[in-house]
Amino acid sequence: MMKSIVCQEPGKLEFSQSKKPSPLAGEVLLKIRCIGVCGTDIHAYGGNQPFFSYPRVLGHELAGEIAELGEGVDLPIGSAAFIVPYLECGECIACRNGKPNCCTNIEVIGVHRDGGMCEYLVVPADHVVITEGVSFEELAIVECLAIGAHAVRRANISEKDTVMVLGAGPIGLGAAQFAQVAGAKTFIADLNDERLAFCDSEFSFDAQIDSKLDVEKQLSTLTNGDMPTVIIDATGSPKAMESTIGWLAHGGTIVFVSVVKADISFHDPEFHKRETTLMGSRNATKEDFEHVVECMRTGKVKSGNMVTHRTSFNDFTKTFPEWVKPDSGVVKAIIEVD
Ligand SMILES: [Zn+2]
Ligand SMILES: [Zn+2]
Repeated sequence: MMKSIVCQEPGKLEFSQSKKPSPLAGEVLLKIRCIGVCGTDIHAYGGNQPFFSYPRVLGHELAGEIAELGEGVDLPIGSAAFIVPYLECGECIACRNGKPNCCTNIEVIGVHRDGGMCEYLVVPADHVVITEGVSFEELAIVECLAIGAHAVRRANISEKDTVMVLGAGPIGLGAAQFAQVAGAKTFIADLNDERLAFCDSEFSFDAQIDSKLDVEKQLSTLTNGDMPTVIIDATGSPKAMESTIGWLAHGGTIVFVSVVKADISFHDPEFHKRETTLMGSRNATKEDFEHVVECMRTGKVKSGNMVTHRTSFNDFTKTFPEWVKPDSGVVKAIIEVD
C-alpha cells in the first residue's frame, strides 16, 4: 500500500491509501523523494486553475529513485532521477516538428492526470532522466528552472543582450539566471520590496527594478537610453504584459512565459516601429532540462537559494494552507518524502 495526498476539492487536501502501482511495459516505478510545490499546485488548491478537475493528486516537480521496471525497460534500480512531466502524443503537428512542449494533446502529470504527491508513481521510462551528482532537492527544481531556460533559448539570448525579467517568482528567477548564464546583462523587476531585497541578497543580477516606480525611467538610466533588447514576462499580470512593448529596445524581443486568462492589447505603432518580435513560451523540452542539470552540476546556477520553505510529506496538509497565504514569503517550497 502507499499514501497519497489528494486535493479533493479547492481548499481541501486529504491523505488516502491505495495499492502501490506496478509499471507496465515501457514504464518505470519511481519512489518519490522530493516534490517541488509550484504556482500551478497553489492555483489548483485555490480553485482558480481553469482546466482542473477534482479529485486530483497534485505535484509535477518530481525527483525520486528508480524502484521497479516494466517490461523492456533497462535502467539501474536505485538510481536518482527526475521526471519530465509533459506527456506528448508524438503525432500532432507540434510533435512532428520537434516541439512536444506545445503538443496539441499534451497531458501534464499532476495537472491533467494524477501527479506525484504520493510515495510511488508510475511514469513512462522515456520521461525519466537519471542524474548523478545532484541532490534530490535540486532535481525537484529542474522542471521549474527549465521553464525559464526554455524562454531564454526561445529568445536566443547572448552576451550582446540586455534582458529584463518581469516578475521575481520562481519562473522569473529561473529565466533571469539562465539569461545570465547566456552572458546577458540582466535586470529583474518586481512590485514587492521584500522580493527585490531577496533577489539582491541571494543573486547577482545587474540591477533590481522597482515596478512600483517609473520602470521606463529606470531602464533608460540603466541602458543609456537603449532599453532592454529582450523582455521576459513572468508576472501573470495583463497590465505588465501590455506595458512591455513600450519598454523594449528597437529591434528587440518580448517573451510571454506567464499565461493569463485575458485579452492583451497594445498600440500597434509602438509595436511596429520597434519591429518587435513577440513570442510565447510554453513548458520546456528535454534539451532545456539537460541544460538546467548541466548548469546545476557546474554551479552556474544556484538552485538552493530559491528554496525558502521545506516540509515533510506527513506535515504537508497542515503546512500548505500557511504557504498559500500572500504574506508567507514562499519563493520555492519543497516536500521531502522519506
Ligand atoms: Zn511547475
Ligand atoms: Zn503531440
